[in-house]
Amino acid sequence: MCRQLAYLGPPVTLAALLLDPPHSLLHQSYAPAEMRGGGTVNADGFGVGWHTGDGPVRYRRACPLWSDESFGALARVTRSGAVFAAVRSATVGMPVTETACAPFADGALMFGHNGRILGWPDSVAKLAERLPVTDLLTLDAPTDSALLWALVRHRLRAGADPTDAVRGVVCDVLAAAPGSRLNLVLHTGSAVVATTAGHSLSYLDTGDALTVGSEPSTVDRPWTPVPDGRILTGTPDHLVLEELC
Ligand code: GLN
Repeated sequence: MCRQLAYLGPPVTLAALLLDPPHSLLHQSYAPAEMRGGGTVNADGFGVGWHTGDGPVRYRRACPLWSDESFGALARVTRSGAVFAAVRSATVGMPVTETACAPFADGALMFGHNGRILGWPDSVAKLAERLPVTDLLTLDAPTDSALLWALVRHRLRAGADPTDAVRGVVCDVLAAAPGSRLNLVLHTGSAVVATTAGHSLSYLDTGDALTVGSEPSTVDRPWTPVPDGRILTGTPDHLVLEELC
C-alpha cells in the first residue's frame, strides 16, 4: 500500500494540500485508514511533484514524510495549481531508495502506482520486451511501479491519449498477471487519470478544483469513493468514470 494524491485547481500551498488537513497525506503516512493488501505505514519514502510558472519541480526522499523538516518549511511557501504526491510502503523485495518513490516524471507528466504486480518480474517479462532497450536501461528503479511508468510513457509517446495509455497498460498487466493491484495515477498538468484495481480511491470535485486521493484528506466536504474496476479522467470542469477493462 502506498497513498497518493493528485490536485488540479487554483494555486494552494503544498502544506495546505499535503500537511495540514486532518487526514492529510502526512497523516496517511503513519495512520492510513483504508489499507488493503498488507502494509501498516507508508514510511519508505515520499515524493511531491508540482508545476510552477518556470516549469515542473520534483522533490523525492527515501525517508518518511514526517521526518523531513526541510520539506515542511518548503511546503509552507510553495504554491501550485497542479500537484501530485505519494508516500511509499515498499513492496517486499523492492528497494527502498529515493528513485523508487513517485512521482515518476517526464516533463509535465507525473505518475504513481499504488499496488503490486503479482509474479514480478517474470509475469510481465513479455510486456517489458515491447519497450526500447534504452527505456529499460534507464528505469528510475528496478520496481514494478517504474516499469508501469515506462509502459505508460511508451504508449503516450506513440500518440495514445492519457486515458487510453493508462487503461491499455492496466488491462495488459491484469491479463498477464491476474490479481495484481494496479491503482495508477497520471497527472498531465491539465487532467488527472486514475484507476481502481485492488486499492481504494476517492475524489473531491468542488467545481473549481479536483482532488483525487487514495483516501479522503479532508472531513468538511463529501468525497466520492470510486468503485473497483474503474478509470477516472478528470479536470475541475469535467469528470468521467468508465469501466476499466
Ligand atoms: N510496488 C510498489 C513499490 O514497491 C508500490 C507499493 C505500494 O503500493 N505499497 O513501490
